Amino acid sequence: MTLILARSAGFCYGVRRAVEMAEETARQGRPCVMLGSIIHNTDVIRRLEEQGLRTVERPEEVPAGCTVLIRSHGEGRAVHQLLADRGAEILDATCPNVTHIHKVVQQAEAQGRRPVIVGTPDHPEVLAIAGWCRSPAVVSGAEELERWLQEDPERRDFPLTFVSQTTSTRKIWDDCVKKAKKECTNAEFFDTICGATSKRQEEARQLAQTCGMMVVIGDRKSSNTRRLAEICREACPDVRLIERAADLDLSHMPRAERVGITAGASTPAWIIKEVYDKMS
Ligand code: SF4
Repeated sequence: MTLILARSAGFCYGVRRAVEMAEETARQGRPCVMLGSIIHNTDVIRRLEEQGLRTVERPEEVPAGCTVLIRSHGEGRAVHQLLADRGAEILDATCPNVTHIHKVVQQAEAQGRRPVIVGTPDHPEVLAIAGWCRSPAVVSGAEELERWLQEDPERRDFPLTFVSQTTSTRKIWDDCVKKAKKECTNAEFFDTICGATSKRQEEARQLAQTCGMMVVIGDRKSSNTRRLAEICREACPDVRLIERAADLDLSHMPRAERVGITAGASTPAWIIKEVYDKMS
């Protein structure tokens, strides 16, 4: 059996930056809490908690005067305001790619346009982007865009600014752009899919086409990990989505000659290595 590890597997730039900021704060011994899971990986969060950081779920739980780390997905304007009102020192680990989207939607509204966010409505990154708008629309794909346009035919002529969740697939975005170009008279488009994400997805697709089995490593809460598994399933008959090496049952391994391994953006190198070593 030949094992092939995708070059793009594992932490992306934005996640690495957030984890390094958290670790540096822990090293300095500053009292600091993380607002929500700073990345979608239970093992990484557990490690950070062992280093002294604590997770809180709501801004109201941040102790007054404490440092608070904002995750790579970002937070909306109201949350930033609430934290500032509580006197918290904000350590902003929002990925610069996501901050860019916040700026695009704010600028769009300042110009009298309506932001349309293409993404999963309840995903933290999408909620945060919407949190920088007064009146955003969120659509998960072309079908939902169609429904949204049908609800009020005047929307077709409204100045609309489309942005994408950074981890959307190229197909979802392209389908929405195609529909909007066909139906809307005043739409502009900012392709904000993250380059690291599309590269990882493309590499996974190509690898899956040449492998009898694919192992996708990542937390089940991570939407980019789940998307990777979906993409692999389109090209490969046997795809295993696992969170860590212990989840891999070697007694049920097929006789595939080539097995590919890839991992989501929030999967740390040490977990990928454990899986690789176990399979080797
Ligand atoms: Fe930033 Fe892209 Fe990583 Fe998201 S996937 S945190 S946008 S680098």
